[in-house]
Amino acid sequence: MRDENCIFCKIISGDIPSTVVYEDDDVKAILDVNPAATGHVIVLPKYHAANIFETPDDVIAKTFAAAKKIAAGIKKAFNCDGVNILQNNGEAAGQTVFHLHVHVIPRFDGDKDDIAIRWKQGDAPENGAEIAKKISDNM
Ligand code: 5GP
Ligand code: ZN
Repeated sequence: MRDENCIFCKIISGDIPSTVVYEDDDVKAILDVNPAATGHVIVLPKYHAANIFETPDDVIAKTFAAAKKIAAGIKKAFNCDGVNILQNNGEAAGQTVFHLHVHVIPRFDGDKDDIAIRWKQGDAPENGAEIAKKISDNM
């Protein structure tokens, strides 16, 4: 499945050049053009879907399996202390290219204070059981 207007589909087909780290029948993994760190890779499933909600489970499984393999390669190559594996869905979540992809980003102990990926955390909710039920009732 391909979308003619999608930049990642054009990268997968080779119409737009990229620096390829890994490729198989199901995924193409490339260096991010604006890396968060040296060795920042994005894993692109060859199946076009905008986000995780629209992507079949087998494609998700293959994409994350490739991300795991690439993370191991990154760890060995750069001797990093940690690796972020993350995936944004929707503009509100920071997604800018609407073809599902997984970021694999090497991290070092010294990164912690400035570029490690964090979010502002609140207090433990008093209505946790209610929140959990609301989610599970909608799955
Ligand atoms: P998102 O913000 O959607 O999670 O991630 C999109 C990522 O794709 C960004 O990190 C951005 O730097 C990267 N990106 C956007 N256009 C290109 C491109 O043409 N080539 C490559 N290699 N990366 C791209
Ligand atoms: Zn696409």
